[in-house]
Amino acid sequence: MDIHFLRKELNTPRKIVIIPHQKPDGDAMGSSLGLYHFLLQLNHLVTVITPTDYPAFLKWLPGKKNVEVYPFKKPKCERLIRDADFIFCLDFNDISRIEPLDQFVKDASGIKIMIDHHTNPIPFEQIQYWDVKASSTCEMIYRLLFEEWKEEDRMTQDIATCLYTGIMTDTGSFRFNSTTPEVHKIAARLMETGIAAHTIHEKVYDNFSENRLRLLGHCLLNCLKVVPEKQAAYFVIPKSVTEEYTMEAGDTEGIVNYALSIKGIRFATLMLEDEDRVKMSFRGKEGYVVNIFAGNFQGGGHIYASGGKSFLSLAETEQKFLTLLHQTE
Ligand code: 5GP
Ligand code: MN
Repeated sequence: MDIHFLRKELNTPRKIVIIPHQKPDGDAMGSSLGLYHFLLQLNHLVTVITPTDYPAFLKWLPGKKNVEVYPFKKPKCERLIRDADFIFCLDFNDISRIEPLDQFVKDASGIKIMIDHHTNPIPFEQIQYWDVKASSTCEMIYRLLFEEWKEEDRMTQDIATCLYTGIMTDTGSFRFNSTTPEVHKIAARLMETGIAAHTIHEKVYDNFSENRLRLLGHCLLNCLKVVPEKQAAYFVIPKSVTEEYTMEAGDTEGIVNYALSIKGIRFATLMLEDEDRVKMSFRGKEGYVVNIFAGNFQGGGHIYASGGKSFLSLAETEQKFLTLLHQTE
């Protein structure tokens, strides 16, 4: 089955779930809700289910009332996944990225559609719409709905708002090298619906709690280490710090990028001590590819933005990181 056949199948009302990756970001939520608003117009029964909670700075997105957060509604979400005719899997290409929903999706009989732009897919789906060159999954949803399926008449401000949000966040506000002329054209087309793009920016970026800003300040002052000879800088954030600033979902998002703003630094890492693991974030620029390095920590992602995890202690993780860093060219 391909995406054109899928469009024909969607002429009949169906039960559909849309699942973004765990700890969903602006692109994961924007693409899920953008697709949600489109599918509603076709009279489907649609639910967005997130494997974990998502950041407060995304909780204004249109349609957020119809998002089920799995840990808060476990039996309902499990039933919806089991009964679904179609399961859209957005912004991930490895089913372990939706833990703890992975087993329910694997066991479900519905047709799985993966729409994603990360490297190295591990196939689990029946239909794949994958483009590693796409800036964002939101860009791919735009292309699917309005270029492949030619559904211009169904473009709404809600869809435009959701898709603009994800393109904006995944391109670092239109500054990463994934920002092609095509991305600007899509953003322009979304703005032509009459949405106020500057307010989307404000809602996402000027919506932090006081604690989040102080957490950032603490991390910049106390948790940042620089290795100039390797053009690298990294944060090591113990659990005690995030507890002190009562961290919420999304509070550490973006902190890793500050390390890249130091002159001469091309490789940034963030090690965040979590319940049972150390969560790793990697960012690179100017030819410093990070997704291969992330492979040392059970991870991957994009060439210049990857993630991973370590089950060593925080200190041991830092040691392992430094050993690997010094082995790099
Ligand atoms: P972040 O550092 O913002 O958590 O993630 C950066 C990028 O790497 C995102 O595109 C994300 O999807 C991907 N990523 C994050 N964690 C993992 C992981 O554990 N495994 C893989 N394969 N990709 C990840
Ligand atoms: Mn994305």
